[in-house]
Amino acid sequence: MTNVFLGLGGNMGDRREMMRSAVAGIRRVLDDVAVSSLYESAAWGVTEQPAFLNAVARGRTSLEPVELLDAMQAIEHDLGRVRERHWGPRVIDIDILLYGSEVINEPRLQVPHPYMSQRGFVLRPLADLAAGLTLPDGSLVGELLTTVDQNDLRRIEGPGWADPSHD
Ligand code: ATP
Ligand code: CA
Ligand code: CA
Repeated sequence: MTNVFLGLGGNMGDRREMMRSAVAGIRRVLDDVAVSSLYESAAWGVTEQPAFLNAVARGRTSLEPVELLDAMQAIEHDLGRVRERHWGPRVIDIDILLYGSEVINEPRLQVPHPYMSQRGFVLRPLADLAAGLTLPDGSLVGELLTTVDQNDLRRIEGPGWADPSHD
């Protein structure tokens, strides 16, 4: 079993419900799922669009990295994500941030996620779960967090937001 971290985001429709549904889908794929607090962030890249909700989920899996990507893309598809503009609005986005300590550079899959160290909306929720985690390049999550802009990021709900008992 490998420890994996997933980055979740969405800025269309009922954002919170989409995030909760994504976590429900992730619970069906991964074991021992834990979820960060829920954050809201101004859009990144293509900025003239609604704010995103963001969170990070951790779990364990025996799936291979590409199988995990397939499973996450299936959840995105099930929740109605259609092919859209890169960095544009989307109902749900699930990125593989970390797959154990592996470094993967394939056309379909780069891990660690190439932008994670620059994104407050990834590092902040990741630090909720694993501030002491070291990335494959030796950097510490809690230290990376101090180097990124968090001005457009706010915590809107504690980790209970995705509890299955609330369904
Ligand atoms: P960004 O990579 O900047 O977060 P994005 O999430 O909006 O952008 P998508 O359109 O969701 O990008 O994904 C484009 C492709 O990225 C996917 O089809 C997938 O094959 C590829 N990809 C590469 N590495 C990863 C990863 N670590 N997690 C998820 N997808 C990845
Ligand atoms: Ca993404
Ligand atoms: Ca993605």
